[in-house]
Amino acid sequence: MRKKIVAGNWKMNMTLPEGVALAKELNEQLTADKPNCEVVICTPFIHLATIAPMLNDEVIKLGAENCADKAKGAYTGEVSAEMVKSTGAQYVILGHSERRAYYGETAEILKEKVKLALANGLKVIFCVGEVLEEREAGKQNEVVSSQLAGSLFDLTAEEFANIVIAYEPVWAIGTGKTATADQAQEIHAFIRKEIAKQFGEEVAQNTTIQYGGSCKPTNAKELFAKPDVDGGLIGGAALKAADFKGIIDAWKE
Ligand code: PEP
Repeated sequence: MRKKIVAGNWKMNMTLPEGVALAKELNEQLTADKPNCEVVICTPFIHLATIAPMLNDEVIKLGAENCADKAKGAYTGEVSAEMVKSTGAQYVILGHSERRAYYGETAEILKEKVKLALANGLKVIFCVGEVLEEREAGKQNEVVSSQLAGSLFDLTAEEFANIVIAYEPVWAIGTGKTATADQAQEIHAFIRKEIAKQFGEEVAQNTTIQYGGSCKPTNAKELFAKPDVDGGLIGGAALKAADFKGIIDAWKE
């Protein structure tokens, strides 16, 4: 059966000492009280090499928030998938709406990033989701379908097995507005159908589809109770151990 995954996206928050302290706190809590799901923390690049050896790999994995669309060379300021992997990280978030909106990441650029991440042995948390005007126009399915096809549907089924999808309605990210559990279920089921059309039913059933957008300890249980919601990608609530642990614990009875 597919994995349940709760992943934290720290974004551009936390100095190195602050990040180390948060990772240590989470690691201790999850070692003492084992999660019922896979847990990932995705941190700024500068934290990765320091945090990787601190984590108990049985309870918490590490990821980056981005990687370059080029393998190596004269690309000042960029960090390659190979470099991310060399820190000990296992995951990378790609296609986050903030990267698409503020840094001009197109489907083509993301396609290159995905290929390089997979070639270097990283698992990819690939974000899709519509903006408010698209939701209001009823275009959410069309939008996520083209985001999936534009960057992921040239992969082989074997490669796609290392992709986690994060459905993140942009209107719910950092706004305090959460999609209802029914809205999330409806579009997650649609995403799974699109994956099945491309890669077959078995691959689709094995794909983890996370919900992201103002997920909190108070709403996580209701969202995760839906059959096609396999966990969450968590922004703001991943910055405090108690909140993040509260969401992880939504998988417990
Ligand atoms: C995110 O940016 O991936 C996210 C889900 O943020 P938040 O939880 O703060 O809405």
